[in-house]
Amino acid sequence: MTQRTAPLPAAVDHLVIGAGFAGLGAAIKLAEAGEDDFLVIEKDGGIGGTWRANTYPGAACDVPSQLYSYSFAPNPDWSMSFSPQPEIEAYLRDVAEKSGTLDRFSFDTELTDARWDESDQRWHVTTSRGEVVAKALISGSGGLSVPKMPEIDGIETFQGEVFHSARWDHDVDLAGKRVAIIGTGASSIQIVPAIQPDVAQLDVYQRTAPYVLPRNDRRYTRLERLLFKHVPVVQKAYRTGIYWARELYVPGFVWNPALATPAKKLALANLAKGIQDPELRAKVTPTYQVGCKRILISNTYYPALAADNVDLVTDPIAKVTGNAIVTADGVERPIDVLIVATGFQTTEQPIAELIHGRDGASLSDVWAEHGMASYKGTATRGFPNLFQVVGANTGLGHTSMVFMIESQLAYIVDALTTMRQRGVAAVEPQQAVQDEWNDDIQRRMKRTVWSTGGCSSWYLDAHGKNTTLWPRATFTFRKLMSRFDAESYDLAPAKATSQHATTQTEGASA
Ligand code: NAP
Repeated sequence: MTQRTAPLPAAVDHLVIGAGFAGLGAAIKLAEAGEDDFLVIEKDGGIGGTWRANTYPGAACDVPSQLYSYSFAPNPDWSMSFSPQPEIEAYLRDVAEKSGTLDRFSFDTELTDARWDESDQRWHVTTSRGEVVAKALISGSGGLSVPKMPEIDGIETFQGEVFHSARWDHDVDLAGKRVAIIGTGASSIQIVPAIQPDVAQLDVYQRTAPYVLPRNDRRYTRLERLLFKHVPVVQKAYRTGIYWARELYVPGFVWNPALATPAKKLALANLAKGIQDPELRAKVTPTYQVGCKRILISNTYYPALAADNVDLVTDPIAKVTGNAIVTADGVERPIDVLIVATGFQTTEQPIAELIHGRDGASLSDVWAEHGMASYKGTATRGFPNLFQVVGANTGLGHTSMVFMIESQLAYIVDALTTMRQRGVAAVEPQQAVQDEWNDDIQRRMKRTVWSTGGCSSWYLDAHGKNTTLWPRATFTFRKLMSRFDAESYDLAPAKATSQHATTQTEGASA
């Protein structure tokens, strides 16, 4: 469903990019703070971000919705402990409607270029629907929004249907077809059991075996839902309990991987329960430390792999032909449909190529040599008044990203209100402060399971550097983001020549 679209104004105070959890949250928090002159642009036709884009069969969140939702918008109507994608998308639409901010969303509006102009201290943004000038740019474009297609010889010559898991083609009927799926990550392990009963044959191409924990999913009882609705403290207690249970993973991830041994045992028991065949068991047994790659959860993945119409293929893919996949051992497996579940561009965000800072260089240019690096994963030297939500080293492997998003939004809104109160036109983190922040993160990263666990993952960039994950407790991040630390920034007063300068910005101190 395409939603009504706000017209594109010539200028706004704050331009928000993206209408997922981050962008919608930004809109709500800006409105609450009285920062009313803002617009949200979204390339898609409605609210939801990744939860609108990923509609593959079986799509659900692997963090319980009591926690994977806004703290300020609890939903007593979640049907299951782990909500399916349509419920999460509907939740976001509902929150948007109730927030009263929907008239500030411009859908089907894609950012194509953004440039900071020092002369007027504004972002000059070009979109697919025209141009906007903004004082501040808040990017909520998402860390997992651009699908990564594998570079496989001949894939473009395949004559059957081919699509990425995040761009599911619902017009393709899989019933009775020979289907191949490449990848065994979080998306694939949900798709495989969902489509296995319908297809004639399913070939699952695994490069690295994941750890898969049991999924303690269940439907909420009527009583629970009544309590959530009428005794909100009960729902709050669920949320708090889930938060702390999830946070227990952190020591095993960041201090000592041996602490994650119980999770490993649980995953191997789940494997042994789901698969009886010793040969298949051996193929799906991971050979690296648990937690090094994202830990997955499913009760149905292993049984689906063990089904008669499924083959797990571990020989590397050599090429794709017009109607088959050929592996390095020379075996050719004919197929009708090819599903590519190979993940997203995470460390080289395409939006980074479009955002150009004070010197004309893009974020991509600045990050080319040493990888993504910002201050608090939010602000970047050379890019005044740019605030990224889910920026460098703010990702998680164990709990709700909404917690991190809300921490960042509080910081950003505090930054903007501080600027207004002090009459500051532009802020950017001091280079030394930003460097110290990133040096500390990379120092901490050395001992994490993501560095020592013996795997490669989408957490690491081309240089093997982890620029995606937060290597500390999430409550520490919350604390560090609890106030805008103006003393870590260069603050610029409005320039006298600024066309858009208002009297409010005069008298700022650098
Ligand atoms: P992913 O975790 O990056 O998995 C991609 C899979 O494709 C991996 O098995 C990878 O193998 C394989 N692969 C990549 N390139 C390949 C190639 N050229 N040839 C063969 N195999 C290849 O991607 P995803 O499953 O879409 O998940 C991405 C992230 O999205 C998750 O980590 C999670 O954060 C989020 N997500 C969450 C949920 C949820 O909450 N339930 C669901 C889906 C996604 P290697 O392991 O060897 O690299």
